[in-house]
Amino acid sequence: MKLPKITPIITVMAAICLLGSCKKKDMSMKMNDPHNIKGVISYQRDFPDDNDTQLAAAKAIGVKPFNKAEDAPNIKQFKLIESNEHYTLDDFTHSVPYVVPQAAKLIDDIAVSFLDSLANKGLNPYRIIITSATRSKEQQQQLSRSNINATENSTHCYGTTFDISWKRFEQVADKDGRPMQEVGADTLKMVLSEVLRDARLAKRCYIKYERRQGCFHITAR
Ligand SMILES: [Zn+2]
Repeated sequence: MKLPKITPIITVMAAICLLGSCKKKDMSMKMNDPHNIKGVISYQRDFPDDNDTQLAAAKAIGVKPFNKAEDAPNIKQFKLIESNEHYTLDDFTHSVPYVVPQAAKLIDDIAVSFLDSLANKGLNPYRIIITSATRSKEQQQQLSRSNINATENSTHCYGTTFDISWKRFEQVADKDGRPMQEVGADTLKMVLSEVLRDARLAKRCYIKYERRQGCFHITAR
């Protein structure tokens, strides 16, 4: 007797279904389950390091300030930083994506700790955004004309200093394409401030809370 050819196909399909592949993919929204979000007591008090403090650290481990942005790739001590799965670089209109190794490592460690903290606190993932890094003397001068906070002795000229936004964060897309509930910027700022406070207390950096500029100004040490 001749069995119809279709039988093996049906059998295989039935087996696949039994293994669960026929289950409909969960595409529901990933909700937050916030817990243990503490923040810091005061942004001003917890991140008080003034320019003199940061400048001393910048001079101790940084490069000599250089004239033009084009010089940066030729400075041996520098490491190139690029947007990656941990953090995002903003449009660098007045800075270059080169920093000393201590600063490169610090950026990555902060970014990873931030993602870990969000997961531990039941929040959907976001990346930090680096809004500024190293500036050539020329770039710093251009900024000084339009920005009161860009002092002549800017730590940004030493390759040790970078700014992380506390206003903007980049949501990490879900790998299965599920929509994700947003996390408010205020909550993300609280989580980031816990990470930064820990890095500062571990003596890895000096930090100034910049209220008007919407960032944390950080110098590796
Ligand atoms: Zn800054």
